[in-house]
Order: sequence, then structure tokens, then C-alpha cells
Amino acid sequence: MAKQEDQFKKVISHAKEYGYVFQSSEIYDGLSAVYDYAQNGIELKKNIRDYWWKAMVQLNENIVGLDSAIFMHPTTWKASGHVDAFNDPMIDNKDSKKRYRADVLVEDYVGKIDTKIEKEIKKAAKRFGEAFNEEEFVATNKRVLDYKAKQEQILKRLGESLTNEDLEDVKALIEELGIACPLSGSKNWTEVKQFNLMFGTKLGASADSAMDLYLRPETAQGIFVNFLNVQKTSRMKIPFGIAQTGKAFRNEIVARQFIFRMREFEQMEMQFFVRPGEQKKWYDTWKENRLNWHLSLGLGKENYRFHDHEKLAHYADAAADIEFKFPFGFKELEGIHSRTDFDLKAHEEHSGKKLQYFDNEINEKYTPYVVETSVGLDRLFLAIFSNSLQEETLEDGSERTVLRLPAVIAPYKAAVLPLVKKDGLPEIAHKIIDDLKFDFNVMYDEKDAIGRRYRRQDANGTPFCITVDHDTLNDNTVTIRHRDTMEQKRVPISELRSIIDDEVSMRKWLQKI
Ligand code: ATP
Repeated sequence: MAKQEDQFKKVISHAKEYGYVFQSSEIYDGLSAVYDYAQNGIELKKNIRDYWWKAMVQLNENIVGLDSAIFMHPTTWKASGHVDAFNDPMIDNKDSKKRYRADVLVEDYVGKIDTKIEKEIKKAAKRFGEAFNEEEFVATNKRVLDYKAKQEQILKRLGESLTNEDLEDVKALIEELGIACPLSGSKNWTEVKQFNLMFGTKLGASADSAMDLYLRPETAQGIFVNFLNVQKTSRMKIPFGIAQTGKAFRNEIVARQFIFRMREFEQMEMQFFVRPGEQKKWYDTWKENRLNWHLSLGLGKENYRFHDHEKLAHYADAAADIEFKFPFGFKELEGIHSRTDFDLKAHEEHSGKKLQYFDNEINEKYTPYVVETSVGLDRLFLAIFSNSLQEETLEDGSERTVLRLPAVIAPYKAAVLPLVKKDGLPEIAHKIIDDLKFDFNVMYDEKDAIGRRYRRQDANGTPFCITVDHDTLNDNTVTIRHRDTMEQKRVPISELRSIIDDEVSMRKWLQKI
């Protein structure tokens, strides 16, 4: 656990030191769970967003984009259920005065059982050596099976109590499991209460005529209310999807995990409209598609898993999370929800406008069903960033910190480094940049010895370093160094563009999906 915490602290300080993420309003001691993206962070974030957008919108003939406003008519949130049901169960510890999400306390307890299972597996692997079959061990070992049964039983009870709004039982569960406040170790808990997560604000200048609004807690509703406008003007036929990226706001009860849980964050959502009855097929398809998209980034298959929901939201008939192994354990990265016709029907009801589709293939009018994919851009940023940050011991015994970001989304694709600051080398370096910059984000760096500059670019996640030296003056060749392998090659300047493109081209990465 301590090791995990250290690793997470390193991620946070690296993100600051290398200009990725800053605490918002830091000079005023910051604002809790609000962050700013700095010069490198904004590039990485933009590239992740582009990678998602291209995969969803550009590569699918039947998906189009949208950018709806953050402010929406307040009835939207009545219809969607957010006014009445967008609550999290919270609980306070009376001694530490800290507030927690009651469900998260229980889920974290269950997560700790995972660590126990992993320990059993490690022990057995050591004992059996090469003959060890992990799958068989997990399926048959009594201790592991008992742990798993316990996990299942706890989650089932939590799911049922939350569905039935039986908050007393949630508290009873916390007490029965002996869950203590992670800060103080105290088990002195208040009752569990519901807390609405929407931020309220006002539209209009004068106090009496101002209208109460909410900052949107998800981007999805902007898609639903525009469903018919988009369908008619794009002449899309069902099945088709609408994708959107944008800010969402939630007054989260607990927000202590850096950009994992923020109060202002960005979502990338796609609502896929389908014929009633076909939702299961599309739900399975999108689960698979989305996992493949994540896997294409190359962070390792073992770091992802599905979690099928026990407790379904009021609008869903099936739901699953793609979970990722963050430095603090497996947690939700993306949600895939089969939302039925709940949203469109609710908006029809509250607006009095029809949101139906005439399907001329079957000669029928209906309210489409919806399958949603919803991923948090900031959470994805954290997944990629934390997984990429690695400490390595090199052959000569020295250490290096390397940020192995997938090259396709790295903020800078190359750094151009003149060996010395004289003899015309900086001028050549600038000339190389002036050519490459039309295709790639490239930077110039002349400060410090070349070895230190390499290390700085490694830690910054830059896939290539290009060094201009005195030989360049004679033969127009440079040294190109690869971030991951540290291999260096002498190449003509004229080949740089294709060498870099080979590794960073979005086309090649997207083709892997
Ligand atoms: P959680 O259970 O972690 O609160 P959720 O189930 O409420 O998440 P959804 O409403 O399904 O989340 O939102 C879809 C995605 O938006 C999540 O998978 C996550 O990646 C992202 N997300 C949700 N809340 C936040 C937040 N407060 N900060 C950053 N990302 C978030």
C-alpha cells in the first residue's frame, strides 16, 4: 500500500514539475478538486481527445459530432432524473470530521480483498514454480474462492441497499465490516445521507427575474435534447450515434485523488440510437469496441477489466465499467450503459415535443433505445500518465525516469538539440524545426549537456531527440535517439519526417483498433 501511495505521489509531483497539471489558483492555496492543464498537459489532453474523436466520429460513417452548451434549460435536469436522483450516499466520521462516500468505503474494502487474493497467487506461484497454472489455481483454491464469495456477497448487499434506498443498511454494512476512517482509524460514524451533486447557478441580472440553472453534470443530455435536430439535418438512419466532448461539473463529496475525481472535468460521450429490442446486441458491440480502443494505446491488457453493475441506475437495463489499474488499484475509467428509451421518453413528456423516429425499413414509428459510452478525459489522462511514468535502472547502473507515453499522443514528438550553442548548429536546428513543425509539435532545447537534455526529454515523454553536431555541417546528417530503446542512429535530415511519422502517425495507431 505504502509503495502504491509513493508511486501516486511521484505521479502528482512529476505532473507538476514537467508542466502537465497544476493545482487551480495555486497562489491562493488552490481550490479543492479543481486543476489546470499546463503547457504539456494541454497538448496531451488535446491529443487524447483527438484520438477518441477520430476513432468515434471520423472512422464511423454513422456517428456525427455535437457541441451543446453547458447551460441547459432547467427542466432538462428534472426530466433526466438528476434533480431527484443524482445523489451520492455520504457518511461523516465524527472524530476526524472527514466526509466519505459510503459506497466507496465499502468498495475500497472489497478492493483490499483483491490484494489478499493477489498475495495468495504470488505465494502459490513461488511454491509451484514453472508448473503453476494461475487460472486453475484461482478457480479451485479454497481461500481464493472464499475471498471471492465474500466480495460478491458484500457488493450484492451494497447494491440492494442502494437500490432500495436503505441507507440504514449501508451504515450497518460499514459497521459489520469494521470499516474505519482511513485517516483517523476511528469507527465513529454518522448516519448515511443522500447528497445532490449538481452545482446551481443563476441566469439573468435582476434577482427576481433570474432563472435557477445547473451546470451540466454530464454531457449526455445535450445529445438527447438535440436528437431529432441532428437526425433530421444529417439524415441519419438508425442505428446511428452522436458524439460530444465537453466540460461537466459535479460537487463530489470526496475528491482526494488528483484528477481522478474532479469537480470540473471533461467527458467524451457517445449516444448510439438503436431499434428497441436491439440494445443488447449494440451494448455488447460497444463494450468490445471501447475496450479495443483502450488496448490500442498499448498500456497492457492486464491493466483493464470489465465490471458489470449489480445496481443499475434508474435509466439502465444493463451497465458495465471498463476499469483500469490506477496507482491506487482498479477503478472505473469508462462507463457503457444501455439506457433504454428512458431519456428520450422523459424529454418528450416534459417538453411536450415528440422525439420519435420513423423507421422506413420496418414501417414503424418508435422512440429509439440508446447505448451510451462515456469516458472521463481527465481520468483517461491520469490512467495514461501514471502508467507511462517509469523508473529504470540502466545497464551502467544509473537510473532514468522515462515517461513512456504512447507516441501518438505525446505532447511533443521530437526535440531538436544543437550539440553546442555556436558554430552555426543552433541555426541548423531551427531550420529542421521550421520544416518539421508543419507536421509535428517539435521543441528546441539547447540548455545543459546533451546527456541531461536527453534525460529531460525522456522524463517529458518526447519520443525522439534529434541532435545536430559538427558532422551535420558537412554531410547533412543528424543523430536521432529513440526515447524507449535509447537507440541512436545517424540519418539524413531529409529522412526525419518519415522516421517520426512512422511512429507517431495517428493513421497507424487507429488501424490497430
Ligand atoms: P464514479 O462512480 O467514479 O463517480 P460515475 O459512475 O458517476 O463515476 P459516470 O456518470 O458514468 O461516472 O461518468 C462517466 C465517466 O466520467 C466516468 O467513467 C469517469 O471516467 C468520468 N467521471 C465521472 N465523474 C468524474 C469526476 N468527478 N472527475 C473526473 N472524471 C469523472
